[in-house]
Amino acid sequence: MFLKKTFMLLLCMLMIVPAAAKSKTKVIAHRGYWKCEGSAQNSLKALERAAEIKVYGSEFDVHMTADGVLVVNHDNDINGVVIQKNNYSAIKDMKLSNGETIPTLEQYLQKAKEKGMKKVKLIFEIKNHASPEIDREVARKCMDMVKEYKLQKRTEYISFSIEVCKELVRQDSKAKVYPLDGKWTPEQLKEMGMAGMDYNYGVIAKNPTWVQECHDLGMKVNIWTVDKPEQMKQVYDWNADFITTDLPEQAQALLKEAK
Ligand code: MG
Repeated sequence: MFLKKTFMLLLCMLMIVPAAAKSKTKVIAHRGYWKCEGSAQNSLKALERAAEIKVYGSEFDVHMTADGVLVVNHDNDINGVVIQKNNYSAIKDMKLSNGETIPTLEQYLQKAKEKGMKKVKLIFEIKNHASPEIDREVARKCMDMVKEYKLQKRTEYISFSIEVCKELVRQDSKAKVYPLDGKWTPEQLKEMGMAGMDYNYGVIAKNPTWVQECHDLGMKVNIWTVDKPEQMKQVYDWNADFITTDLPEQAQALLKEAK
């Protein structure tokens, strides 16, 4: 009996160990989970749906209007009205494709605080603005609002603007910040106090050793925007920490297969 139990235990361990060692990649829904009924990119619904399918994180994009209101939207404009050049009043009634009104950052963070939403990480992209000064101002305002909502531990910042990234680290050395621009080596990112890199698939394909180099330096790697199954598998093979995708359910299913 004892031998049988020991044998079973060993068998279980053999089955568990390789699975745990492989494919630790976590899935991030790009602009929330929007390729589903009733959703739209960067909508409150997309954040809610991302939480429902239990992804690690939900990504979203933030711009500041000319009068200093932070709003969630990917493109520079909504229905042709450029967000950064107009006051909030010019866009506040604009609708997303699912009928929701364009969300402010405040509404978005309120949504993230609701019941059932508390496990999903907020992958907070701060868009480039007209000057490095404005970039830094927007970075501080975004961070202040995250603090106001006590969401620091759930928030990871990403940006194409290195000014934004540096300002975030300057304001809070514990903040998790990942540049998106693909320009920096693991050593340079470490020196700047970044949490890692969030680079395009093509950049990592050219520099696959960066994944391990980041890990060796105690940093993480996120790869965007990966929607093709063969590229998803490659990301899992590289052992990247995060995959950012428009197809989070497919990425989750493939991840289960890879385990
Ligand atoms: Mg984005």
